[in-house]
Amino acid sequence: MKILVINCGSSSLKFQLIDSDTEAVICKGLCERIGIDGSQIVYTPAGKDKITKVEPMPDHNKAIELVIEALTNAENGVVELSEIGAVGHRIVHGGEKFTKSVVINEEVIKAIEEVSDLAPLHNPANLIGIRACEKVMPGVPMVAVFDTAFHQTMPQEAYLYGLPYSYYEKYGIRRYGFHGTSHSYVSKRAAQILGKDIKDLKLIVCHLGNGASVSAVKEGKCIDTSMGLTPLEGLIMGTRTGDIDPSVVEFIMKKENSTVADVTNLLNKKSGVFGLSNDLSSDFRDLEDAYLKGDENAKRAVDAFTYRVAKYIGSYTAAMGGVDAICFTAGVGENSGFTRGLICERLSFLGATVDAEANKVRGEEKFISGADSKVKLLVVPTNEELAIARDTFELCK
Ligand code: ADP
Repeated sequence: MKILVINCGSSSLKFQLIDSDTEAVICKGLCERIGIDGSQIVYTPAGKDKITKVEPMPDHNKAIELVIEALTNAENGVVELSEIGAVGHRIVHGGEKFTKSVVINEEVIKAIEEVSDLAPLHNPANLIGIRACEKVMPGVPMVAVFDTAFHQTMPQEAYLYGLPYSYYEKYGIRRYGFHGTSHSYVSKRAAQILGKDIKDLKLIVCHLGNGASVSAVKEGKCIDTSMGLTPLEGLIMGTRTGDIDPSVVEFIMKKENSTVADVTNLLNKKSGVFGLSNDLSSDFRDLEDAYLKGDENAKRAVDAFTYRVAKYIGSYTAAMGGVDAICFTAGVGENSGFTRGLICERLSFLGATVDAEANKVRGEEKFISGADSKVKLLVVPTNEELAIARDTFELCK
């Protein structure tokens, strides 16, 4: 079956067409600047050159039409429309309602709407993508795959904040966690690479991209993760603060005479390694180059980042009563031996050692731990689109 995977943002739409038999990507691409001047679709059919078409896209319906046109046109299309057997949608927030992927119907759409106040920028965009596909491909089954679902196994002691319990009951204020599709995919893959049943393993997955999170996966179930009610909590990220004392918000507002919205923007968009490096960069390639040249701004930011990751690894080792393997994934985790090395240097308390040669790996599955390491360290490239396609196939086959 050919599965169309859709990741719909407020002004962008990423897509991949995946063959569920071979798991090969048949075509992948991106619609940018939907609803804004200068919109374009960029896509690459497998084995061919990248194609860019500048086309007005006033809304997501038009974007989906262009995706279908790109996939099916006579000149460089890759399928007939009737061959697309199902559509898998990445949905950011499933609240407590969704603990696994589900086939989309009106009831599911209503439930996604109901939790939209927990992800006001993302869920409405995801729903627009669902509606647009419904319109352009009526009758084709669709599946919702939630970023939060994998973390729904967290016990209450891990997901509750120390707030009055009534705030959880009334408003659902709790830790949900994100990147769940990635944490689930990587932990399962790690068990396969280790040649063990996941039920016999204690794993820590470090998803280190522009957004970053860590999760503790015990016996195949997530028991804790670093992101919270929103993706702002936890690690220091590209531009997000991660954990801070909530009193900082009021303090900055008074000092700078600013609003809650201003400070929220500061915490999300101008902080993290970007802010810590005095606005040098949020990109780890730039920070790594500067760090190696002795730049103090880069050193300060990267050191705070690696410290925080190691601190979470320590706390999750305590939470699970041990750890068998630590996995690195996403842009930084898959590609930056430098940053991985700095994190692992901080893990000597676990008896972790790194094989410097192996740690040069980029974007490939590989053990990077030394032969004498007491804990396995490994790089496992994530593949959220494939995970979405697999769930979609399972529910629609
Ligand atoms: P997101 O999906 O959260 O936007 P990604 O997982 O794509 O993020 O990761 C983006 C990050 O990965 C950027 O900070 C980028 O610098 C980093 N990255 C990508 N390649 C490398 C590399 N070779 N060395 C260091 N960092 C890298």
